[in-house]
Amino acid sequence: MTSAIDTDVLIVGAGPTGLMLANQLARRGIRSMIIDRHPGPARETRALGVQARTMEIYAHLGIIDAALSLGRKALAANFWAQGKHAARIPLGDIGREESPYPFLLILGQDDNERLLGDNLRMLGRDVEWSTELIGLAQDGDGATATLRRPDGTVRVVRASWIGGCDGSRSAVRELTGIGFEGAPYEHVFFVADVTADGPMVPSASERSIPWPDPAAMQGQRASAGRPVGAGVIDDAWGPSSGRTTGDG
Ligand SMILES: Cc1cc2nc3c(=O)[nH]c(=O)nc-3n(C[C@H](O)[C@H](O)[C@H](O)COP(=O)(O)OP(=O)(O)OC[C@H]3O[C@@H](n4cnc5c(N)ncnc54)[C@H](O)[C@@H]3O)c2cc1C
Repeated sequence: MTSAIDTDVLIVGAGPTGLMLANQLARRGIRSMIIDRHPGPARETRALGVQARTMEIYAHLGIIDAALSLGRKALAANFWAQGKHAARIPLGDIGREESPYPFLLILGQDDNERLLGDNLRMLGRDVEWSTELIGLAQDGDGATATLRRPDGTVRVVRASWIGGCDGSRSAVRELTGIGFEGAPYEHVFFVADVTADGPMVPSASERSIPWPDPAAMQGQRASAGRPVGAGVIDDAWGPSSGRTTGDG
């Protein structure tokens, strides 16, 4: 016999997916609990581009004004290769007449997560940090999750549903045998939060940072005045080359 249900939905993972699910459930008054094994929110930029549909959903959540004031509209992407400006792709009018937000907003993933986390707290919920899912069993009435808490003790939670929002190496997927079809991208990508000197395209929303060979480079500027570099590492510097590219 199974014990009583503690929560309707246990959300595993407080990245953008888990935080969005927690916000949507809270708005609808559905009981949920959200955990993450990390001690707190991520501080690196990671993903940069917020699409129109996300901004429409942010408007429903009431966080669009904060997102727009923190981020920058992308007017163009500038690509650099071997120290030279190789291409400029205009982005300024994508989605015109399709959305109230017909543009790509450059806003780092850390800022997106912060906005979603703040809104969740406003709705009366919060993430339980340093709490890791280590066991999961399903039955006809729901699921039993085993969690390791910050002090190392174990807690068992009964939930009607589990929201597996725990990223690419998902414990939820592994513990339930769901599997993961597909394969990683062949290229090695990088994103770097950097402070850099050098010539830049002179526009507030259209900045590029030169990057040493051999990386093909797209420079962008994220929120809060922090320059961000992103690009693809040349094949000659890929993982099989034996050449060092650093941690980024
Ligand atoms: C360097 C970098 C650059 C990127 N650039 C881009 C980009 O430009 N554009 C783009 O679209 N995407 C980009 N991505 C991918 C983007 O970051 C992911 O798509 C996004 O983070 C996925 O969100 P998520 O919430 O599904 O998962 P995640 O952000 O991975 O969050 C999963 C969370 O689950 C938690 N977790 C995992 N296992 C457990 C467990 N057992 N118990 C409790 N918690 C657990 C983790 O701590 C984590 O906080 C980039 C990623 C990286 C690393």
